[in-house]
Amino acid sequence: MNWITEPERKTPVIANVDLLVCGGGFAGVSAAVCAARNGAEVLLLEKYGFLGGLVTSALVITTPPLNNGINNEIAKRLREKAVYTPCRHSGEEVEWLNMHAMDPEVIKYEFLQMLQENKIHFLLHTYIVGTFMEGQRIKGIIMENKAGRQTILGRMVVDATGDADVASFAGAPFRLVKKPMTMMFNMVGVNVPVVLDRIGNWGNLKKLIQEEINRENLSFDLGINMEFGAPGIHAEKLVYEDEINVWSGNLLGMDGTDPRDLTKAEVITREHVMRMANFLKRNVPGFEKSRIEVTPTQVGVRATRQIIGKASPSPDEVKNKIFDDTVVKPYAHSDMRLPYGSLVPQNVENLLVAGRCISAADEIMGQLRLIPVCSATGQAAGTAAALALQQKKAPQNLEVSKLQRILEDQGMNLGLKRVKQ
Ligand SMILES: Cc1cc2nc3c(=O)[nH]c(=O)nc-3n(C[C@H](O)[C@H](O)[C@H](O)COP(=O)(O)OP(=O)(O)OC[C@H]3O[C@@H](n4cnc5c(N)ncnc54)[C@H](O)[C@@H]3O)c2cc1C
Repeated sequence: MNWITEPERKTPVIANVDLLVCGGGFAGVSAAVCAARNGAEVLLLEKYGFLGGLVTSALVITTPPLNNGINNEIAKRLREKAVYTPCRHSGEEVEWLNMHAMDPEVIKYEFLQMLQENKIHFLLHTYIVGTFMEGQRIKGIIMENKAGRQTILGRMVVDATGDADVASFAGAPFRLVKKPMTMMFNMVGVNVPVVLDRIGNWGNLKKLIQEEINRENLSFDLGINMEFGAPGIHAEKLVYEDEINVWSGNLLGMDGTDPRDLTKAEVITREHVMRMANFLKRNVPGFEKSRIEVTPTQVGVRATRQIIGKASPSPDEVKNKIFDDTVVKPYAHSDMRLPYGSLVPQNVENLLVAGRCISAADEIMGQLRLIPVCSATGQAAGTAAALALQQKKAPQNLEVSKLQRILEDQGMNLGLKRVKQ
């Protein structure tokens, strides 16, 4: 690769805060809200003009139940507006997840409300591009926006970018994974009862498509890898009665931190969407009067960088162990837990990580990237950051038993046999 050397320049410092929360998805918003409630002055940075992360930008609108800690509060807000409902999911293997559908437009609004109610500063349309370091300490975040290149100084940072952008800029170790990318989209004008009748309870729309192909001797080439469940479409009964959320297919082998791969993925998965929508409309009963209602702002990127944190629990540990430093229990109805060490990166002193880039064994990450887990890790990281600021300690030296007490007092039932005093 060729390089150029840019001339040295001065970068304006536009603010100086206790805590910088980087990214405004479910993890980032939860972290910011919980940190503010525990006394921190918080500024959240987000590259899009709206909040919600992949849920609102990639139309990932189905989630396992939001029923512990801050997730209860999010569910309550959505329920009051009747935009959080149990839905049917086509994949039999995920039946235990008991999926619920959410309206992404209401999430965009409610998340803005939650930031404002908790007096959190935030800057949208702002892309984080680097860190300003002093040894192993992040002194500030460097970002670019319509005003050019700017810095905000902070005493503590939560990386909730999903891609561990901040952790990687700061030099924390991570591993890069490539999981299938998918463009989700919504169709309206669908006769959902007819479609669901054909699919069957917890059936699979893929089978229905295959039946249609066999019956009519149709050719159906999505141009995508036919392994890993592809064409991989599934359907949900959503909040609105004639609407369906479609999984267009899986695109394999792409690196979500490489802009060339991301560009290619946008082109190919948009092709998937068009072919899928046309096929359904022409050939599958119930879709005759359907149309694409909306495609997402971006292709769905499941995973990129995973930090290699202080702890990296195995699937068995996540499902069965009560860690001494348990700080995350995403569901009221399941025993899954995570230790504090999963949120603490190595080699950076004042950083915590929340959301889909936390540290755990790869085999369990598919379950740890689910939306309720991301918000629960956000709650734990935000609360820990506020406590570390109060105690004037680095996150790795935090009194975790105190953090556990605060989390339990604030509604996250950690299911500990005994919380240490
Ligand atoms: C196709 C697909 C299907 C899925 N299906 C399900 C499902 O059915 N149920 C389920 O529970 N989960 C599902 N998931 C997983 C789930 O959607 C995500 O893991 C979860 O939403 C991640 O939340 P997060 O807050 O950690 O990260 P994100 O949602 O990625 O949020 C990160 C935020 O940071 C911002 N950001 C990133 N980089 C920067 C930067 N450099 N500067 C400024 N801002 C930045 C982003 O814009 C975004 O708002 C699916 C994911 C995909 C891709």
